[in-house]
Amino acid sequence: MVTTMRTSSHQGTAKTFDSLNPATGEPIGTFGVFGEHEVAETVARAREAAQWWAGLPGKERKARMLAWKSYLTRYIMRIAELMHAETGKPVADAQLEVLLAVVHIDWAAKNAAKVLGPHKVRSGIVAINQVSSVEYQPLGVVGVIGPWNYPVFTPVGSIAYALAAGNAVVFKPSEFSPAVGGWLVSSFAEVVPEYPVLSLVTGFGESGSLLAKSGVDKIAFTGSTKTAKKVMAACAENLTPMVAECGGKDALLVSADADLDAAADAAVWGALSNAGQTCIGVERIYVAQDIYHTFLEKLAERVKGLRPGDDREANYGPMTMPGQVEVIEQHIADAMACGGRAVVGGLGSIRKPYVGPVILADVPESSTAITDETFGPTMTVTPVSSLSEGVKLANNSKYGLGGSIFAKNKNAAMAAARALNSGMTSINSVISFASVPSLPFGGSGDSGFGRIHGADGLREFSKAKAITRQRMKPMVNLTSFTRTDADMKKILTLASLLHGRKYK
Ligand code: NDP
Repeated sequence: MVTTMRTSSHQGTAKTFDSLNPATGEPIGTFGVFGEHEVAETVARAREAAQWWAGLPGKERKARMLAWKSYLTRYIMRIAELMHAETGKPVADAQLEVLLAVVHIDWAAKNAAKVLGPHKVRSGIVAINQVSSVEYQPLGVVGVIGPWNYPVFTPVGSIAYALAAGNAVVFKPSEFSPAVGGWLVSSFAEVVPEYPVLSLVTGFGESGSLLAKSGVDKIAFTGSTKTAKKVMAACAENLTPMVAECGGKDALLVSADADLDAAADAAVWGALSNAGQTCIGVERIYVAQDIYHTFLEKLAERVKGLRPGDDREANYGPMTMPGQVEVIEQHIADAMACGGRAVVGGLGSIRKPYVGPVILADVPESSTAITDETFGPTMTVTPVSSLSEGVKLANNSKYGLGGSIFAKNKNAAMAAARALNSGMTSINSVISFASVPSLPFGGSGDSGFGRIHGADGLREFSKAKAITRQRMKPMVNLTSFTRTDADMKKILTLASLLHGRKYK
């Protein structure tokens, strides 16, 4: 059983750092700052582990993954308390996060063989003598660099799929959540003690950079757009492929026919839960003009009783990363300077390390409160003439991660969902797509590229292998120097019949 908060990850490293409770400043544990040598050693051990893990029969890998999910479920209180201590999030939110991670481990374990195993494909008339198949093989060692805001759910979105696809994983958690990261790694070792199939690298950005340069077979990065660019540059050294899950500025659209109470409830949760430190959190709200004032009132009413804190009754916790408070402050100040008004809260809501709920209205689209990721418990609310104007404004963003639409008309909602420039959209709820393990998760533009979760997520951590097996001699052997002009004539006649007809 994993019992200690302090992991042994600092053993052998020249430098160490402490992880602190963001609410109290108390140290949670001491961790090593991994240098080039330590990262290289960890990756080398992971390479051996990868061979063993990939060589296990699929059923055994699945059984071990399921044993891991069972372990996490049984010790949910322990890890949730640690998440609360290290990131400040309420214990119940931490439990919810672990449960979501468990659902993904379960799905990845149970579906890996079906998604990645050999599939026959049609060979087509030209290669009719061939039996063709495709299968997806493990990459080897995957480096996972994770953020602190969802220190279990987010990295597990890559880790579970990479492991289920037969890879070993070296995990570098954020400097703000090394204890949770260490606990996760130790929990896996409890059920897979033979080899370090999942191992830990701790430290600051530099240790992550060393992992990206270490020659691992892929990097799964989750974090800010700015850091993603640095990681991509580091990966370029060895042509290491990368999946990038970055920030967002998600919009919630409210149509005139929407259930306003449900929309307001979801908007408040989407914007304020986890102190707004959610990549797919609601940051912008576009509301049909006709119901704008009613909706704003409902929103303000719901926000009134909510407050941050470290106690069990608090609705959300402190800002985990001290520096983020400045960004929030700048965005609120910019919104106000541009003519926006604070319907609830304002600059006075900032009482470090806490930020009270803030609702901003009449904010011009050019304000940083609308254009940039705030990552705090704030939301902007803007009236629009129609759902399509809402889509247009929502799409006027460098980000393209998630989003939500509240509307009763199913067809209108589906059309708007398709038109939103985002990787994922929830209709009549927020962030539900993250809880459906068979759905791909990821964005475009400044929100990154590639997909985790679902079948796409499993394939992201594998390489396609195409195989043809000749089952009989071809009628005409085109790939031989014995090919004749008559053979070519036959094949050109066939091609003309199959593909040469005029296309109407
Ligand atoms: P950062 O970009 O600051 O850090 C992310 C990770 O990268 C951390 O582990 C960090 O380590 C590491 N890192 C920092 N510099 C480097 C470097 N030069 N080379 C390699 N690794 C490096 O993001 P945050 O941790 O602050 O997370 C918040 C961001 O993550 C937000 O933008 C949020 O939207 C996004 N996010 C996206 C999600 C998605 O699925 N799309 C989900 C969750 C968050 P260290 O902390 O030690 O510096």
